Amino acid sequence: MLLEKIGPMKKLLLIFSLLSFILFSGCSSLDPDQKEINAMAQEAYNEVKAKSKISKNAEWKAMVDRVAKRIAKESGHDFDWEWMLIESPEVNAWCMPGGKIAVYTGIMPVLQNEAALAAVLGHEVAHATENHGKERYARAIKGNLAGLVIGGAAAVGGQLFCQSESCRLLTGLGGAAAGFAITFFDMKYSRKDEVEADKIGQRLMAKAGYQPDEAIKVWERMKKASGGEPPEILSTHPSSERRMENLRQWLPQSKELYHSASEKYGLGERIQ
Ligand SMILES: [Zn+2]
Repeated sequence: MLLEKIGPMKKLLLIFSLLSFILFSGCSSLDPDQKEINAMAQEAYNEVKAKSKISKNAEWKAMVDRVAKRIAKESGHDFDWEWMLIESPEVNAWCMPGGKIAVYTGIMPVLQNEAALAAVLGHEVAHATENHGKERYARAIKGNLAGLVIGGAAAVGGQLFCQSESCRLLTGLGGAAAGFAITFFDMKYSRKDEVEADKIGQRLMAKAGYQPDEAIKVWERMKKASGGEPPEILSTHPSSERRMENLRQWLPQSKELYHSASEKYGLGERIQ
């Protein structure tokens, strides 16, 4: 009925859009491979980078550099690793699929030392190496292909429910990357994923040469520093007695890894 009322040119365009939509949806399998997910994450990461203020703090940048490099190496994953230090008061850090890391300057004073940074990066990197949230990314990618049509709307929608600065900075972007990023920043990992990331994270920091006890202390510090209002990183990574208990339980094994690490840095440098 609708087709009868519109002109031949518009009709053609409409059919073309519908066909592209079906074609794109069909091409994207329900289970996109890791390559597809990583490519989307790379695009989203580039957008965040372009929209963010990169920190000029040379000391902190050097620290993020060496810690990220060591954690990446110990992860054993051959990702196309990248990291950046974003100038922002937000107490946050994350790692997108494919090894795309961001640290926010707001987290640095809370960390207090290099080992704590290694603990946080170990945890975030573990989410990426263990493919946590893969199904959700897959759905986002499906949505994004259709998002050639609705991408702009998704980005505006993101503005309505975004709770973090990192999410909000993406608003106004159209297309696939924004859709992916909105999924990423809005995602809450399951309790099982969090436990796994804590365990692998603690092992990673130990293998990278940092005292693994700091993994327990840093989450306590972050909770205290927030003074009631949970910082962004804890809102997606709920802290609990159980978590501390787990980390304490794994400590002997992680300490063994630390003792056999080829280089040991202890707590590393203090963060001023
Ligand atoms: Zn987590």
